[in-house]
Amino acid sequence: MEIKRNQRKPLAGMTLSELREVTAHLGMPKFAATQLAQWIYGKRVTTFDEMLNISKANRDLLATEYVVGLKQPVDAQKSEDGTVKYLFDVGDGKAIESVYIPEEDRATLCISSQKGCRMNCYFCMTGRQGFHGNLTANEIINQVLSVPDSESLTNVVFMGMGEPLDNLDEVMKVIEILTEPWGLAWSPKRITVSTVGKKPELKTLVEKTSVHIAVSVHDAVHEERQSLMPLEKIYQIKDVMEMLSHYDFAHQRRLSVEYIMWNWFNDDIKHAEALREILPDEHVRVNLIRYHMIPDAPKLRTSSDERMAYFRDYLNGKGVTCTIRRSRGEDISAACGMLAGKVKEPGKTREKQVDGKVQRVKK
Ligand code: SF4
Repeated sequence: MEIKRNQRKPLAGMTLSELREVTAHLGMPKFAATQLAQWIYGKRVTTFDEMLNISKANRDLLATEYVVGLKQPVDAQKSEDGTVKYLFDVGDGKAIESVYIPEEDRATLCISSQKGCRMNCYFCMTGRQGFHGNLTANEIINQVLSVPDSESLTNVVFMGMGEPLDNLDEVMKVIEILTEPWGLAWSPKRITVSTVGKKPELKTLVEKTSVHIAVSVHDAVHEERQSLMPLEKIYQIKDVMEMLSHYDFAHQRRLSVEYIMWNWFNDDIKHAEALREILPDEHVRVNLIRYHMIPDAPKLRTSSDERMAYFRDYLNGKGVTCTIRRSRGEDISAACGMLAGKVKEPGKTREKQVDGKVQRVKK
């Protein structure tokens, strides 16, 4: 019986061993799995017809049960500072966002790992949206492969919508695809995974990969942090940092701390000291982040430039590397904590072939 097109499985997002299962299942030669990986991850093709070293008979066979599964963003908004926010339709009227951040010497894509988030951080738009499911490895890697500047990306950060370690299996698959020679063959040093501190999954990630780690601390005082970030009630941030102190972040691998600054809330010397106390060693970098106001979080306001500079200088004076991170894309709600992934017209797009590539266009 013929499988409907929308029920055919996407190959993008599969690891090499999963692609081998596909070729074995279809009775294709084993080396065809490597060819598929090269076409999808190396050349970013979107149709089987473009895979010229695979026979026509085998391409037709693949198309009976599978699709390549790469989908263009349905919308893009460009900020005055060059940042671009892309919207990807992930079905059922839901959408997720990725943010492209060009800089002089690098181009970073901030990607999402979940539809919404269940961590419910008080200050975060995504958290306010609730949780609508994990993204598949296909939906995560699609963000990297389908943005217009895909080929020129130098870095990927898992700092978009969702808590990546709440979707560890799919995130690990994507890291494998990004770093293995049959995939994008990137150095793991081009990848950063951010977390609010899911301790057991973080331990697994640290031990099984060598990507950079960014921990969203935001407030090192336990009582205050748990009022902002409910996960603190389960995994205290001091215990998470203590666990990280047993791993090597002094050489190739980086551990950084993200710290959003709220006026007269977490931006005085007492808080700088509380933060310093939980840092494993002098190799940890602290990034201070300006707060971007969201609706329904009236008790928080961003710290002034002067207070941020004072906090930074205090930590620098104590030997902690601490910088104020430049905010990007605030005018298009693409800055930290502002991603919400609204679909403008849910379901109002369709696939279309444009210059031999499948694109989604408005109906
Ligand atoms: S800050 Fe991160 S973990 Fe917290 S709700 Fe937002 S997306 Fe989720």
